[in-house]
Amino acid sequence: MARRIGSRYTAHQILGRGSAGTVWLGEGPDGPVAIKLLREDLSSDQELVGRFVQERTALLGLEHPHVVSVRDLVVDGNDLALVMDLVRGTDLRTRLDRERRLAPEAAVAIAADVADGLAAAHAAGVVHRDVKPENVLLDMQGPLGPGGSHRALLTDFGVAKLIDTPRRTRASKIIGTPDYLAPEIVEGLPPRAAVDIYALATVLYELLAGFTPFGGGHPGAVLRRHVTETVVPLPGIPDELWQLLVQCLAKAPASRLRASELAARLRELLPLLAGMPPLDVDEPDTDEAEEAAEELSGAAPAAGQPVRRRGAVPLVPGARPSDSNRDTHTSMRVPAPDELAGGARGTARAPRTAGAPRPGSARNRAVTRRRRLTLAVAATLLTAAGVATWLTTTDDTPPPPPDMENSAPAAP
Ligand code: ADP
Ligand code: MG
Repeated sequence: MARRIGSRYTAHQILGRGSAGTVWLGEGPDGPVAIKLLREDLSSDQELVGRFVQERTALLGLEHPHVVSVRDLVVDGNDLALVMDLVRGTDLRTRLDRERRLAPEAAVAIAADVADGLAAAHAAGVVHRDVKPENVLLDMQGPLGPGGSHRALLTDFGVAKLIDTPRRTRASKIIGTPDYLAPEIVEGLPPRAAVDIYALATVLYELLAGFTPFGGGHPGAVLRRHVTETVVPLPGIPDELWQLLVQCLAKAPASRLRASELAARLRELLPLLAGMPPLDVDEPDTDEAEEAAEELSGAAPAAGQPVRRRGAVPLVPGARPSDSNRDTHTSMRVPAPDELAGGARGTARAPRTAGAPRPGSARNRAVTRRRRLTLAVAATLLTAAGVATWLTTTDDTPPPPPDMENSAPAAP
C-alpha cells in the first residue's frame, strides 16, 4: 500500500517501528530512501514543527560514511517526515540480541565506525545525545570490515534534541533505558560532545560483556550508579582496550577522549584483537529487589525462560515495555539528586567471589528466594515512592521557552 509523503516521496512498506514513529522504505526523485514518519502526537505539535524547520540545516548538513544522512525534511499537512539514506541491514541491538556478545575485534570495529561518525558531527557542532545500539545501523550489503563486521552508521542525529521537552514526559509513558546516560546529564549539566563518548563507551562495553556497566533495576538506581559507581573490569579483556573504556567512562567529561582520538586508538587495537573469541563473562546478578517486585505482580519469568532484557522499565506498574517501542532517555525527565538518594540496590554487579553461586544457578536462585520476602516489601515501597515522585514532578513541569531547547533540565 503506497502512501504519498509530500510532493516528492512515496512510502511503500514499513521497515520498522521506533519510538518516534514508523520507518518506511520509500522512493524519492534520486532513488530508494528510508522515510521516518513521526508519530502523530509529535507531528501535531506546532512548537516541534517549528523547531524542525529551524534545525533543518544542522540536520541536513551531516554527510559522512558512518552517519545516516538526513536528506530532506517534509512538513505536509499532518505529516512530519525525515527522509534518510536507506541502510540495507539491521540495527546493532538486533545483532546483539542474536549474538549476546561480539568478538572484541568486531565490537571495536563497530565502535570505531561510530566514533568516526561522532567526530564528524562534533566537528560540525552537533551532539547526538542518544547513542545506543538501537541507533547504530549495520550496512549488510557493503563489504565486511575487520572481524567480519559490517559497516556501522549512526542514525537519529538531532532527533533526540528535537523531541526532548519535559512536557512530553507523560505519566502514561514507558520510561526508556537510562543505561547510556552520562553522569553530567544526571547532575543537570548541559549535554556536550563528551556525553556521546560516554554513551559510545557504554555501547562498546555492552558489545563485549553482553550487558551495560551500570544498567539493571530501577531507573533511579541506574542514574545513581552513573554518578557514583566505578566500572567493574571485564575478565580477559586486553589491558589497552580496558584503559580506553575506563577513560571514556570517566565521570568527568573533560577526562574522556575526543571522538577522533577514540576512533584512532580503537583502530590501532584491531590487529591485537584479531581472532580473539568473545569474552567469557558471567551475566550480572539480576536485581533482586526488582525480581521480587516482579514476583509480587506475577510477572516473574518462568523457570527456563530467558531473563528479560534490562533497560526499559515501566513507569506505571503493570505497563510492559515492548521491543517495538524502545523509548529513550531523551523523553525522560532526569530526577534531581535528592530523588536519586533512594532506589534499588547499590552495586550493580560486584565480581563474583570464589565459591559464590553463579548467577542464574539453582543454588543462587534458592539464596535469592530466601531474601525475596523481605525484599518484596522493600521493593514495593521503593517503587511506589519512586513513581509518586516522578508523577508529581513530571506533569507539573512547564514546557521550556523556545530559546531553552539546548539547555539541560534546570538544576533544582
Ligand atoms: P526510533 O529512533 O524512532 O525509535 P528507529 O530509528 O530505531 O526508530 O527506527 C526503527 C527501525 O526502522 C530500525 O530498527 C530499523 O530497522 C529501521 N530503520 C531506521 N532507519 C533506517 C534507515 N535509514 N534505513 C533502513 N532502515 C531503517
Ligand atoms: Mg532511533
